[in-house]
Amino acid sequence: MEFDEWQERAACRGIGWQLFFSDAADDIRAALAICRRCDVRSQCLDAAMRTGEAFGVWGGTPETHRRRIFRAARRRRVA
Ligand code: SF4
Repeated sequence: MEFDEWQERAACRGIGWQLFFSDAADDIRAALAICRRCDVRSQCLDAAMRTGEAFGVWGGTPETHRRRIFRAARRRRVA
C-alpha cells in the first residue's frame, strides 16, 4: 500500500506492525482497541478495501471480517 497523508495521523504510528498482523486473539483485541481511538479509521478501512488487504487489522476490522466482505463481493460478481 502506498503511503498517504492520513497515515501520519494513524493511532498505530510507531507501534510495531507485528501487533496488527498477529494471529493471537489478545493481540488482535489490542490492535482493534487502538483502531477504536484512531482519527483516520475510515480512511484506513477504505484503503484496505480498495487494495484488497486480506491480512491483518486495518480500519478497525480483523482480517476475517474483511475476507467475508471480499468473498461476498466475488460471489456477487460471479452471479
Ligand atoms: S484504523 Fe487502526 S490500523 Fe488503521 S491507521 Fe488507525 S490504528 Fe492504524
